[in-house]
Amino acid sequence: MCRVRAVNNQGPQQGGEATIPRVVITGAAGFLGSHLTSRFLKDGWSVIGMDNLITGKPDNLAPHFGNSKFRFVQQDVTEFIYVEGSVDAVLHFASPASPVDYLKYPIPTMKVGALGTHKTLGLAKAKKAKFMLASTSEVYGDPQVHPQKEDYWGHVNPTGPRGVYDEAKRFAEALTMAYHRSHGVDTRIIRIFNTYGPNMRLNDGRVVPNFIHQLLNSSSITIYGDGSQTRSFCYVDDLVEGICRVLAQDDSEPFNLGNPREISIKQLAETMMELYGHSSPVEYLPLPVDDPKVRQPDIGRAKSVLGWEPKVGFEEGMSKTFNHFKSQIAESGLAEGN
Ligand code: UDP
Repeated sequence: MCRVRAVNNQGPQQGGEATIPRVVITGAAGFLGSHLTSRFLKDGWSVIGMDNLITGKPDNLAPHFGNSKFRFVQQDVTEFIYVEGSVDAVLHFASPASPVDYLKYPIPTMKVGALGTHKTLGLAKAKKAKFMLASTSEVYGDPQVHPQKEDYWGHVNPTGPRGVYDEAKRFAEALTMAYHRSHGVDTRIIRIFNTYGPNMRLNDGRVVPNFIHQLLNSSSITIYGDGSQTRSFCYVDDLVEGICRVLAQDDSEPFNLGNPREISIKQLAETMMELYGHSSPVEYLPLPVDDPKVRQPDIGRAKSVLGWEPKVGFEEGMSKTFNHFKSQIAESGLAEGN
């Protein structure tokens, strides 16, 4: 259960019926937004999902169209957001989040992190709602401290190509804390480390969908650089559980959420080839500019404050993701995916 206290909607309505809590989720048609939408609906909330659909897919929300507790609003959240009635929580998850996407949309990425955070904080303030910012491990940049703890300030190149995402999220964190301190908004910040699972776009450019796409197409596995760079991959269900727990407690300082199981990209490729039987050659391509050399969350704070840690093993999570993409391709007949 997402046992998040509803601040506004607790009393009985005129007709004597208890009202149900209401959440606004931005980026609802995206990977994480769609999983959050499902979770909140399942836990009895009413959900308003917003997305401008530049990287989100309405298909991700298909199971909820027709559900009277769910409303989709196609909206760019960098513009003024109007929501009628009470709102108990605002979850700001809108943003391109794959390096390929934020390099393709540098200005929308900066705008949604900066202006979109301003508008969603304004909505939370007006509605006296809880606010959650989806921040990122990218705030640590190419880290010089390993593993990364919340008190590490990071090592970011502000003018490099990844700076549009990293700096927008750093600004968003600062603005969130400013609204918390100056306006008393009940805020939460989570720093999300590499997360994977169903509802990612097969062509979003991130390493897990890329490798699965390549395995399903029997094409070359693309490793950027020499593959010695590391990441730590968290299955989406674990992340969603962590998000619910962060919302349900009162601490406004950032929480790292991710799976500390660290693996090099070369090892990831080898493991996935072993698991899903693939004999095509590996193609080594140039490492993107400022690609972090290592990344691993220190989740000590989440463990002690939230009693949370990831439960889904690598093979289990990967199989669920692989099978999801496989059936999606089979249904659409689109070998190239989208
Ligand atoms: N990567 C790779 N091959 C690919 C896609 C990505 O080797 O086809 C590498 C990428 O350079 C990075 C890591 O995999 O070092 C994770 O990349 P991703 O785009 O998933 O996200 P990031 O963690 O860099 O934000």
